[in-house]
Amino acid sequence: MADQPIAEVLAIAAHRDDVEQTCGGTLLRMHSLGVSTAILDLTRGEAGTRGSADERAAEAAAAATILGVSWRQALDIQDGRVENTWENRLKIVEVLRLVRPRVVILPYWTGRHPDHYTSATLGYEACFLSGLANLKMAGTERIETGSGAERAKHPHRPFKILYASLYADVRPSFVVDITPFIEDRHRALMAYQSQYANQSAGSGLFVPEEEIRERTFSEARHYGTLAGVRYAEPFVQKEIGLVDDVTLIPVQSL
Ligand SMILES: [Zn+2]
Repeated sequence: MADQPIAEVLAIAAHRDDVEQTCGGTLLRMHSLGVSTAILDLTRGEAGTRGSADERAAEAAAAATILGVSWRQALDIQDGRVENTWENRLKIVEVLRLVRPRVVILPYWTGRHPDHYTSATLGYEACFLSGLANLKMAGTERIETGSGAERAKHPHRPFKILYASLYADVRPSFVVDITPFIEDRHRALMAYQSQYANQSAGSGLFVPEEEIRERTFSEARHYGTLAGVRYAEPFVQKEIGLVDDVTLIPVQSL
């Protein structure tokens, strides 16, 4: 079926391990609800201080298993050089038309690392382009045969874009309660042994393993506290919230 989604939620980020850091708990929660999830990493991590691209590929696969995602791939965009170009947009359009998600999670659009904030705009524009019937993607290089090539011809526009704002200094639109999933989320991040295990390479640059746990748990605890739960992940949506029944709005006021 050309229009059947591979996953209903697709998280897109610049680097392998970005998704684990910003919305891994949310992917775990969706998986536990029976909603299929997927991850697209835009780069392969070849510019990192630690670990080769091959090592990071194996680690990303291990993390994907822990997160329960049904599909994960990395594009060949250069690490450290994620640019909002036509070519890069088309690479993402191809994936959007293949996976056909209802919800796309992107990084927040400001931040320290240019790859991160550029991915937000690049991803948004790809989501827009993907819905254009006149944008033909037949016979592209990466999906040459099989159902993938057929699917790439069919426009698909995601319904909702969410921005994972854990590292952004902004008030989230909402948070997702990840309390039951906090340990698995941490395990998924620690699957990147080349990045997070204690070692000498780049030791002045990287946080010790023990501190990662404390940091990630306290960040999640902070956002949980805002909503009266233990651990949570924050998101921003550009649209306003819509409510059917005001008696069912969660999070107590006083
Ligand atoms: Zn990153």
